[in-house]
Amino acid sequence: MRDPTGFLREEYEQLRTADLDWKIRALGGPSAPWSSIDGKRVLMLCSNNYLGLSNHPKVKAAAAAAVASHGAGSGSVRPIAGTMDLHLELERRLARFKDAEASLVYQTGFATNAGLIPQLAGEGDLIISDELNHGSIIDGVRLSKAERGVFRHRDMADLEVVLAKAEEHTPAYRRILVISDGVFSMDGDIAPLDQIARLGAAHGAMVYVDDAHGEGVLGEGGRGIVSHFHLSRREVQVEMGTFSKAFGVVGGHISGSRDLVNFAYNRSRTWLLSGSHPPAVVAACTAAIDVLETEPEHVRRLWAHTKRFKGALSSAGFDVGRSETPIVPVIVGESSRAKALSERLFELGVFALPIVYPMVAKEKARIRTILNAALTDEDVGFAIAAFEKAGRELQILH
Ligand code: PMP
Repeated sequence: MRDPTGFLREEYEQLRTADLDWKIRALGGPSAPWSSIDGKRVLMLCSNNYLGLSNHPKVKAAAAAAVASHGAGSGSVRPIAGTMDLHLELERRLARFKDAEASLVYQTGFATNAGLIPQLAGEGDLIISDELNHGSIIDGVRLSKAERGVFRHRDMADLEVVLAKAEEHTPAYRRILVISDGVFSMDGDIAPLDQIARLGAAHGAMVYVDDAHGEGVLGEGGRGIVSHFHLSRREVQVEMGTFSKAFGVVGGHISGSRDLVNFAYNRSRTWLLSGSHPPAVVAACTAAIDVLETEPEHVRRLWAHTKRFKGALSSAGFDVGRSETPIVPVIVGESSRAKALSERLFELGVFALPIVYPMVAKEKARIRTILNAALTDEDVGFAIAAFEKAGRELQILH
């Protein structure tokens, strides 16, 4: 008789043999500049906690106070009995921060993309996506009955060709949706959102940006990519983001018109059918917005560290690719080299993971580093020295 679950072990063993399985590492304490990873104290260079807000005293205090005042859980999905005053307050604060008519908070960024994209475009519609968009966008698109188009990464001439072809399509598409990441998470490059918005307007397409890595980083006071390019809500109709990165907590969100938000919460199944955030999460997110509004120094420090680190690594001879943000890839070639570099860095006290095929091209394996405002100047110097030492030892630098 065939073993109905035999594939579980077989597939796992195949991944393990090819060294493609995820090795889970555990933090023994907070995600901080110096973290305990599998019992070793290392400098954290791969967390998305860009501004260190997950450990900010105001953010932690807000979470603790909300547990005391509102309990540990919300008890329901948002549309039934799981909307507390805290959820509404967070949405008001976020809309104000984003200078949008309205905002809506989802459980995660992934749930936002998976829940909203298939509702914005369906049968008879077209979704056009940058080829390097995040997996949650790809899954959101897969859940839609819309036709799909792809444009080459950040290639506006190619997007224009795809849009022009779409306009000639018969029968005419009901709706066209163009989606792009704001900051691309593997290379740290920025989408030309101003040009995407211009092309979208010229072709009557709706524009959706996933700003997971731009919030807290780009724009005025870390307001994100729409602010960075000084665009209006009429030009970029859907701004999506997450509280799991620079805000330091967890949760997805969208900002845009009141019409968008009314539509989104009535139609997104991930929002309607999944339990809402516990009070601690919601209050911590609101406090994180508060910190961004009142303490601009965190964003400034993040950029100062980024400039120094990237400059030093480039001068030393490392290839940092096309990074324009605090995501700094250190491209070394073969997967085995990236893995060896990551291991040596860990021994030297720096935690940064290798990104290898199939996540990036075979010959573009890299260590992906992410800078953090909570690092001290000495920490950044420590990281640079470790990279230079490991790079020379492994003959990546000459
Ligand atoms: N979009 C992008 C571009 C991301 O990098 C991520 C997180 N990896 C997500 C969406 C999903 O966000 P969340 O962690 O809130 O589910």
